Amino acid sequence: MLQLTEHPNVLCLSGHDPTGGAGLQADIEAVAALGGHALGVITAYTVQDTRNVKRVAAPPMAWLREQLATVLADCPVAAVKIGLLGDARQVPVIASALRRARVPVVLDPVLRAGGGRNLASTRLVAAIRRHLLPLVDVATPNRAELLRLVGARRPDAAARQWLEAGARSVLVTGGDVPGPHVANTWYRRGHAPQTRAWPRIPGGFHGAGCTLAAAIATLLARGYTPAAAITDAQAFTHRALQAGRRIGRGRAIPWRQVEP
Ligand code: PLP
Repeated sequence: MLQLTEHPNVLCLSGHDPTGGAGLQADIEAVAALGGHALGVITAYTVQDTRNVKRVAAPPMAWLREQLATVLADCPVAAVKIGLLGDARQVPVIASALRRARVPVVLDPVLRAGGGRNLASTRLVAAIRRHLLPLVDVATPNRAELLRLVGARRPDAAARQWLEAGARSVLVTGGDVPGPHVANTWYRRGHAPQTRAWPRIPGGFHGAGCTLAAAIATLLARGYTPAAAITDAQAFTHRALQAGRRIGRGRAIPWRQVEP
């Protein structure tokens, strides 16, 4: 029998990372660990290892359009997660699918790889700000991405600009800010910012941001409130980082087959 709601479908628009640490594979594993099913539409191909990204290419535009139309015509979607985008022209196509789907949207704006490579053109940054932020329930930039998207210098001012641009909430992650703790701050319109600090697990990780964003999307798909989804997704990601494994010569990847 068809059971459409038991494991809600989470549409993941993400890049492919052949190491499996980040991107679509991170999404699939996190979504499955938390009781959802990932529908995977590839928005970028990459050449990378666990140290850094070497090359990024976008799939043909017609493929993105057709994959989205085909899968959305068949499968009900309970939430959407957006990660690395390969081309600014993808943004209006995705925005129009989001407007039709009317489900919670989590945006992980992947602008720069942990290894340092720039992953987003000026045009892509502008398109995300203009067309995607107004459709987003939770955005999960790190500090550098928060500042870059709006061209700001101070995190509080930058987060305000994200909210003014239309994002319903912004969870700023602090993995890229040195210190003994990783402090993640959640900004919402009409609420004081809330910060939760986690002991930093040394060594650095590849794919932590994707894991967190996919976990939030899955819990929203399961009907959690944004506050509960954000709390439980951070705890899940922390457990995955504690169980992290070095699968290559670079950074460890989160191990997402942990207890939800
Ligand atoms: N490659 C893809 C496809 C990604 O989605 C991401 C991050 O989301 C990265 C690479 C970079 O990951 P990290 O910064 O954790 O190395």
